[in-house]
Amino acid sequence: MIEGIKVRKKNPFLIKKIVIKRSATRKKTIQAKLKDEVMEILAPLNVSEKKLNEVIKSFKHRFEKREKEKFFNRESKLPLRVQKLNQKYFGGELKFKYIKYSANQSNSFGICYPHRRTILINGYLKKMPQWVEDYVIVHELAHLVYPNHSKDFWKLVRQYPKTERAIGYLMAKGIEEP
Ligand SMILES: [Zn+2]
Repeated sequence: MIEGIKVRKKNPFLIKKIVIKRSATRKKTIQAKLKDEVMEILAPLNVSEKKLNEVIKSFKHRFEKREKEKFFNRESKLPLRVQKLNQKYFGGELKFKYIKYSANQSNSFGICYPHRRTILINGYLKKMPQWVEDYVIVHELAHLVYPNHSKDFWKLVRQYPKTERAIGYLMAKGIEEP
């Protein structure tokens, strides 16, 4: 049995259509695939509507987040900015696994995981002035040295001359760091 549900497309990251295929041979698990903005759901015949809707919602959320992140990181200037700022403010000494845009930080500008040596930058910063984004990069890079917000941390960050202005700008937009 195939059911097609049309999804209204307001934003380019939303999935266009959901196709549900139920199968008697499928026992328990529900699977989902995404191809060309169509999400295909493979479900057992007897799965309840409630359960199916829950699973669809969660798959949809996951896929849309992944698509948004791909979009943010496509042709991104981020690696080059990071390299420049690392050079300028940290003597090019900082080592990390990756720094990339994330789609899942609605009210935070960035997250640094010092132990994993990874940094996520809010993808919406791409729309903001470069000097604001540069501040965020410097801030998160500095967390690779100091995981806290200590005096030494701020001393390092404030080498970036537009630190105070950028903090004011982000606060006015209601974006904070967790
Ligand atoms: Zn911080």
